[in-house]
Amino acid sequence: QFPFGRRLPCDIYWHGVSFHDNDIFSGQVNKFPGMTEMVRKITLSRAVRTMQDLFPLEYNFYPRSWILPEEFSLFVDEVRMMKDGDPGWKPTFIVKPDGGCQGDGIYLIKDPSDIRLTGSIQSRPAVVQEYICKPLLVDKLKFDIRLYVLLKSLEPLEIYIAKDGLSRFCTEPYQEPTLKNLHQVFMHLTNYSLNIHSGNFIHSDSVSTGSKRTFSSILCKLSSRGADVKKLWSDIISLVIKTIIALTPELKVYYQSDIPAGKPGPTCFQILGFDILLMKNLKPMLLEVNANPSMRIEHEQELSPGVFGNVPSPVDEEVKVAVIRDTLRLVDPQKKKRKDDHFERQHIESYKNKINVRYNYFLCYRCQASEHISEAGEELLDTGRADRPRYDSAESPEADLPSLCLKQVFPKYAKQFSYLRLVDRVAALFIRFLGVKGTTKLGPTGFRTFIRNCKLSNSSFSMASVDILYIDITRRWNSMGIEHKESGMCLQAFVEAFFCLAQKKYKSLPLHEQVTLLIEFCEYHLAALDEKRLVCGRG
Ligand code: ADP
Repeated sequence: QFPFGRRLPCDIYWHGVSFHDNDIFSGQVNKFPGMTEMVRKITLSRAVRTMQDLFPLEYNFYPRSWILPEEFSLFVDEVRMMKDGDPGWKPTFIVKPDGGCQGDGIYLIKDPSDIRLTGSIQSRPAVVQEYICKPLLVDKLKFDIRLYVLLKSLEPLEIYIAKDGLSRFCTEPYQEPTLKNLHQVFMHLTNYSLNIHSGNFIHSDSVSTGSKRTFSSILCKLSSRGADVKKLWSDIISLVIKTIIALTPELKVYYQSDIPAGKPGPTCFQILGFDILLMKNLKPMLLEVNANPSMRIEHEQELSPGVFGNVPSPVDEEVKVAVIRDTLRLVDPQKKKRKDDHFERQHIESYKNKINVRYNYFLCYRCQASEHISEAGEELLDTGRADRPRYDSAESPEADLPSLCLKQVFPKYAKQFSYLRLVDRVAALFIRFLGVKGTTKLGPTGFRTFIRNCKLSNSSFSMASVDILYIDITRRWNSMGIEHKESGMCLQAFVEAFFCLAQKKYKSLPLHEQVTLLIEFCEYHLAALDEKRLVCGRG
């Protein structure tokens, strides 16, 4: 703590809202550059859509979404087409302003023509999304889940999920949307900040009753109804990993711009709040990701008529204290040192006693083997088992702490998801050609160099066509009103151009195969070029 201003560097910086401090040269910051921008409704929808284009089945956990105002006619056309194809389809849509939170400005519609295309939608872009009409109900009420996820590192990717989360309940019994009930926010929106104002909101001291409960209490209930909660957890874990995989390419562009490689800078970690809705069939659907989830453990209550005060909230305390405590344990800068010391001591001990060395080896081997077998059996599912750091010992400050509530899911299950990380590799190409440090956009020369170095132009694809491709795509992306701070091609525009090139070069294959082939082609030529430069350098 630095009560009189900061003179010396800290080992952990805890920023309130977002990464903003460019004067940090060491230690760890609790926010990633660009995360707030990445999880805005429009940016998240775009990032997930790119992945849906590549892997439609793997990314079907996010409702079909359109970006307003620019995709309004696409929205109208697609809905008309789907209705023509299936006249029985009676959809509902939810319109959510970009950058909004706490249900602010959200409304439901039955028909695209009901969108309020007034001045506000022009000045305040939004996402319109298919409304999930059949959510899972508990006590006849709709609820959603807030899960806490720790992104501990971007490169290499390290993700932890908290074993418990919150379930936030609506305060009016749920009915499928009709023109009559579309406006009833207490029936359709699960936001705590809205429902707290309903007369039906129930504050409870128990974590398994009331309008805010622990997720584990819901799982208990579901389990007693015979639901396969292990499968549910496994689906949630893969939803979280896939969502983060969709976000990482752009996060890496922001990261290298704010914290250039090779210069002194901090590392980052971040606690994210994932909002998930369970469908009736227990399929989890992603609603949104919060970069700055509330960590309050009190709530406001009317103590006597007209008198409000803050009172402790046991359910928030139960879930959130563990998340913060264990985040600090996982990023603890002293931890690595203690771990190293511990192993060094252990090594010396065993060296002193040769007989024990053999015995220790046997014990160690047996323990590793059994862990491997049990892990394989548990697959993605077991969040019940507590992870406790292995080197806990009497002298470790962690010895008296409860087991970790944060469970590592990546790289633990990396193998099952690595095939999805295609856009990450496209982003690596993009970053390589960015040139000037600190930028996030590629200039026309950088794009030409990319084409030339990767040997992508030929007689049927001249450099003039390369320039046209660059100008066309860049202009369109820059006219979408995303941000005009820098001119040039943003990563999403580069990804679009890359997909175009892949489709042109490898016709009639599924998109993800075309993109994989083109990535391999580029990486091969760049590796050859690097080798040539190395040899020339030596020469
Ligand atoms: P905000 O950031 O304003 O809270 P959300 O995207 O979380 O916006 O939406 C607010 C609430 O609306 C959610 O908590 C959920 O109850 C409901 N909701 C959002 N999207 C959908 C959807 N596609 N289907 C059903 N309910 C939804």
